Amino acid sequence: MPWDRPAPEREGLPSAWSLFPEELTTLGCPGSPLETFRRLHRPWTWKGGAPDLGPRIRHWLEGVADLHLPAMVERQASADGSTKLALELSDGKRIEAVHMPRRVRNPRVTFCISSQVGCALGCTFCATGSMGIQRNLQAGEILGQVLALMLELGPERGHELTLVFMGMGEPLHNLDHLHRAIRLMCHPMGLGLGKGRITVSTSGLVSGIEKLSRLEPRPLLALSLNATTDEARSRTMPVNRVWNLVRLRQALDEWGLKRGEKFCFEYVLLAGENDTEADAERLANWLGELRRAHNLNLIPMNEHGASAFQQPTEDRVQQFARWLKDHGCFVTVRRSRGQDVQGACGQLIKGK
Ligand code: SF4
Repeated sequence: MPWDRPAPEREGLPSAWSLFPEELTTLGCPGSPLETFRRLHRPWTWKGGAPDLGPRIRHWLEGVADLHLPAMVERQASADGSTKLALELSDGKRIEAVHMPRRVRNPRVTFCISSQVGCALGCTFCATGSMGIQRNLQAGEILGQVLALMLELGPERGHELTLVFMGMGEPLHNLDHLHRAIRLMCHPMGLGLGKGRITVSTSGLVSGIEKLSRLEPRPLLALSLNATTDEARSRTMPVNRVWNLVRLRQALDEWGLKRGEKFCFEYVLLAGENDTEADAERLANWLGELRRAHNLNLIPMNEHGASAFQQPTEDRVQQFARWLKDHGCFVTVRRSRGQDVQGACGQLIKGK
């Protein structure tokens, strides 16, 4: 498609998908800014894979904004139905996203999307962490990622979509662009996503959790926990050296869960590292009152070349889940989708 790669002269212009209707007005939109926004953000109204803007608006917009989406450069289908996609940004850097189709228990399509190229936080079990940070994604690039996936694999409409920020990067390290993208995606004249269908997963960046808790629309929060003592957590997740387990738990108390909301916890099970009965007991104690308002996903380690950690045996995974259930936790053992194409949790790695 001619519009899916940026021309060099467009670099430096804001992405057309990063602009709110009032900003289109400020830039001198010659037609209705709301209608222009609607046509840009609703891919089900597009023609030939591009927004149906009409010649006058398109000509004007091309002068003030960049109308290119991230380009889809690789696509790997997994036997479990999910698809891992690599997208190239305007500067040639690559990010990855995973498309997970509808399931019986989840009638919506789920996208796992990236917020950064690489990640600065260096969790030792994570392939993305081994890349280091290259740069943040702009709001228009985050949104462009979603629109590019919708065009490639569906769903056709925003109300059929669930988003999880569990791809490359620590989303709260890029909070300004992340939240602008969320506001754009929740705009009723755009994709119209409900805030309850967007989950932001953090490694425990407490300063970001505190800021996000005060923003509207406020998405759901997931926390990647993965250890039950400060010593072990600091070993695998360096962020814990700054904000330890007590501080993290305090930030969750201060989040102020609303009626019906829950936290989602992810716990990557690493053989011989965090999978003992004592770990299960400490984890349940750390949750404390949150035992009534949480979902806890146990994710057996997806082995990859950038980490020496191994997946526990199936017996140990099931035993660990039973120990937690005995303590009143709501546990699901999550088989990461896309494992055979390295698209599972902690496996996304790309870059130039
Ligand atoms: S687990 Fe998340 S925060 Fe940690 S290095 Fe990987 S992408 Fe970054």
